[in-house]
Amino acid sequence: MNVHDSERIAGVLEEMGYTAVDREVAMTGAVSIFAINTCAVRENAANKLYGHLGKLLELKKTNPELTVIVGGCLAQKDKDEMAKRARAVDVVFGTHNLHNLPRLIETAIETNKAQVEVLPRLVQFPSELSAKRGSKHSAWVSISMGCNNTCTFCIVPQLRGKERDRRFEDVVREVEAVVENGAKEVTLLGQNVNSYGSEFGDRHLFSKLLRKMGEFQERGLERVRFTSPHPASFTDDVITAMAETENVMPSLHMPLQSGSDRLLRLMRRSYNSARFLEILNKVRTAIPHAAITTDIIVGFPDETEEDFEETMRVVEEARFSSAYTFEYSIRPGTPAATMENQITKPVVQERFERLLKVQNAISLEEQQKQVGREVKVMISNTQGRKDAADNRVSGYTEDGRLIHLDDACDLNEGDIVSATVSYAAPFHLLGSRT
Ligand code: SF4
Repeated sequence: MNVHDSERIAGVLEEMGYTAVDREVAMTGAVSIFAINTCAVRENAANKLYGHLGKLLELKKTNPELTVIVGGCLAQKDKDEMAKRARAVDVVFGTHNLHNLPRLIETAIETNKAQVEVLPRLVQFPSELSAKRGSKHSAWVSISMGCNNTCTFCIVPQLRGKERDRRFEDVVREVEAVVENGAKEVTLLGQNVNSYGSEFGDRHLFSKLLRKMGEFQERGLERVRFTSPHPASFTDDVITAMAETENVMPSLHMPLQSGSDRLLRLMRRSYNSARFLEILNKVRTAIPHAAITTDIIVGFPDETEEDFEETMRVVEEARFSSAYTFEYSIRPGTPAATMENQITKPVVQERFERLLKVQNAISLEEQQKQVGREVKVMISNTQGRKDAADNRVSGYTEDGRLIHLDDACDLNEGDIVSATVSYAAPFHLLGSRT
């Protein structure tokens, strides 16, 4: 979501007549405008940002014309602190007022006064904003913003507000445009992507959207993905639509967060471990080769050894192809930040390492099942790598696994080729074209 927001900021700036330069050039300060998009989800984001602002203040001494704009969740959360740093920052904007960016920048330049504008909520989905996309072949398309859930560890609802759904026709129009422009892959984005339609009173709108994406296959849309779904609102019609729509990929990122029902209640996740595993079973029955990944938080406040053992049990049963595991850390402003019984760092770390060991072993076993299989690989432009030493090219399989192909330097980003998997490691595969 944050990466795509950066694409939209870049799109707005481009429409204003600015041209993007490489980061290295920007860091010299010899530019007209320096844009920073912040994220409050990651720990240390604030420290990093203030470190950057210190450097930018120095650059402004050599280039007084430099305009610094700071947007995103952290800017929204810490707007007062930002305002205090007015000498370094010319414009502070939040997640709900990207469309006002031209006015804010122009006013800051004309008046030589810092402009701080943070709107409490999104009035309307900003469908008209264009994006300067990082990839021609693979496009993010937002379908909703904000979230109606209240997970106690998460700052998103406070910063992004309630869910606002984008009109179905507007989503389809953007997909049509990116496909016309050469995109072969689209990732539908939402904080709680499968609750799309709740604002319009249609709880099946997300599955209808997936089926609609199927109609674009003959026009070149080969791969449709989405992130992130929420288990509590993951309905059977979505599973059926995934299974029956050829270009919807057999991969699913389904955040577990904890395997303990007690902790899931403390986290206000609105599902229990049995319901979570039931969804996974249904997905695997309908789509046998689906690769399922997850997010897990270790050391949430009041997590006991028994709670952690429950997470280990679910992880062993779920057999995720990979997991993003996080050591819980306090996010000021969230309900969990003030909960009693915060877990000490050594305990969190010890559990985290145990979980990692088990999950890495599962990941490797699941990856090894791929060896000998023929897979379709889309050469990646953003995450892939060309390695001149061994002529390797990287890409992703249909179920979302990273694979490096030998002797494939003639391939271009966005190409889709068949390959046979020859080797598996926990986080990547090796293969050759067939
Ligand atoms: S569903 Fe996701 S975005 Fe919404 S509150 Fe929970 S963790 Fe945050």
